[in-house]
Amino acid sequence: MAYDNQNIFAKIIRGEIPCHKIYEDDKTLSFMDIMPMATGHALVIPKCEAVELSDMPADYLQAVFSTAQKVMQAQRQVLNTEGIVQMQLNNAQAGQSVFHYHVHLIPTHVHEIGKHEDKTANHEELAKLAEQIRQVIV
Ligand code: AMP
Repeated sequence: MAYDNQNIFAKIIRGEIPCHKIYEDDKTLSFMDIMPMATGHALVIPKCEAVELSDMPADYLQAVFSTAQKVMQAQRQVLNTEGIVQMQLNNAQAGQSVFHYHVHLIPTHVHEIGKHEDKTANHEELAKLAEQIRQVIV
């Protein structure tokens, strides 16, 4: 699938629409999922044009997973759970709905998660969680 630079995550990277940011460096960005599958659900995305795993350059893959490690450690501290589901969907047939590569990090207990919510979460709550997680990132 060709990369469309008008997708929502490309707009977030360019600062055209807001997000509840957790972490950013030169190759990656992490922010709260706006329709979370569980409290503290975060996303990590690369700052490169990639729809899915097969499009990802090795250096950006390494950067995404390095950021994911930082974020999950911070989620554990803030959400008080050891369980973090790491999920990443490739292609619409697999359920992918935003066509910019992204890794989900979902704090949870076994069998707790289902499909993501169909409505936006409370923004004050998302902002508070993003701030708490941001504060403990090392
Ligand atoms: P996927 O189904 O793997 O493509 O996941 C897309 C995710 O992006 C879903 O969990 C959505 O809740 C999330 N999402 C969609 N729009 C936004 C947005 N503007 N900010 C943050 N998360 C979003």
